[in-house]
Amino acid sequence: MSGEDNIYDVLIIGGGPAGLSAAQYASRSKLKTLVVDKSRTAGALAYSSHIENYPGLTRSVSGRELLDIFREQAVAFGAEVVEAQVIGVKLDGDIKEVLTMEGGYKGKSIIIATGSMGRKASMKGEAEFLGRGVSYCAVCDAAFFKDKVVCVIGNSEEAVKEAGYLTRFASTVYLISPTPKLKVEDHPALTAQNLKVLHGTTVTAIEGGDAVEKIRLSDEAKKETELPLSGVFVYIHGSKPVVDFLYGTVPLTDEECIDANRMMETPIPGVFAAGDVRCTEIRQVVTAASDGAIAALSAEKFLHHRSRHKYDWGK
Ligand SMILES: Cc1cc2nc3c(=O)[nH]c(=O)nc-3n(C[C@H](O)[C@H](O)[C@H](O)COP(=O)(O)OP(=O)(O)OC[C@H]3O[C@@H](n4cnc5c(N)ncnc54)[C@H](O)[C@@H]3O)c2cc1C
Repeated sequence: MSGEDNIYDVLIIGGGPAGLSAAQYASRSKLKTLVVDKSRTAGALAYSSHIENYPGLTRSVSGRELLDIFREQAVAFGAEVVEAQVIGVKLDGDIKEVLTMEGGYKGKSIIIATGSMGRKASMKGEAEFLGRGVSYCAVCDAAFFKDKVVCVIGNSEEAVKEAGYLTRFASTVYLISPTPKLKVEDHPALTAQNLKVLHGTTVTAIEGGDAVEKIRLSDEAKKETELPLSGVFVYIHGSKPVVDFLYGTVPLTDEECIDANRMMETPIPGVFAAGDVRCTEIRQVVTAASDGAIAALSAEKFLHHRSRHKYDWGK
């Protein structure tokens, strides 16, 4: 292939629900579409052992099953998918490029959909039990812990709020805070009857068999104890958008996310962002899929030089 033949209309980085929804919409609009995905098992959805809140599902499915459906649908409309990790991008100029260890790909537009699994697991057992009792999202997983004992690790505003949310489902919620004191006047959620705060305590390991069964704790005097439970919600650093391969080519906020507008446009013409990599408060499969659809339709408008939406970036 040479010349125009090897230039895609839409290059999508990331094959999660955002990237694959974008691929489905773009290829169905007859755009030559390529998804470059690091791994089928690396994204957030791949870690979800069961999804029951994605609209249209009549039974709970594993994240990987749902991903396979997303991928199959996109491919059926003509999208190509390659497995490769993007390590760099060139975004200036009309033709953009993504670089992988195996070679480069060129496109007239780019959708960045690499998710927010950029935070490294920080304690023993965290990565091993992710999706099997370890979670980063109470809204996603609280319903699976009805009448069970769970803990939330962290002392941020978000951690306390998520602990408050979990008290509606779990029998007991332990909020494990490494710092000495969280004040009730600052955090009304702390008044819930079934919320117990363990101050000045750190979790040294998460343990179990097929799923989480207990955690190991260390208090300020370095005394070690065990706590039997079923769920561990980790809010130590929050999730981190995967943007390392951008090397400053796309502006990021202080939280290191991409502040795309409502049409998923970034400040760089022809470059869009969708899903958890965006600055967004809600990180769900349905919102990622929605972002992907919007990004693809915006890319289609961009490619066909159709009049820009009335929203300007930054408004
Ligand atoms: C344990 C767990 C349980 C969850 N449960 C639910 C739930 O019940 N309901 C719900 O709605 N949501 C749930 N979520 C949230 C949901 O999974 C995410 O909001 C959603 O998957 C985000 O989609 P995304 O496409 O933006 O990112 P991801 O799903 O994270 O996909 C990102 C993709 O980008 C690829 N990628 C990353 N870096 C690169 C690179 N450099 N080059 C190429 N490809 C790259 C990855 O391989 C991956 O395929 C859960 C999340 C977790 C972690």
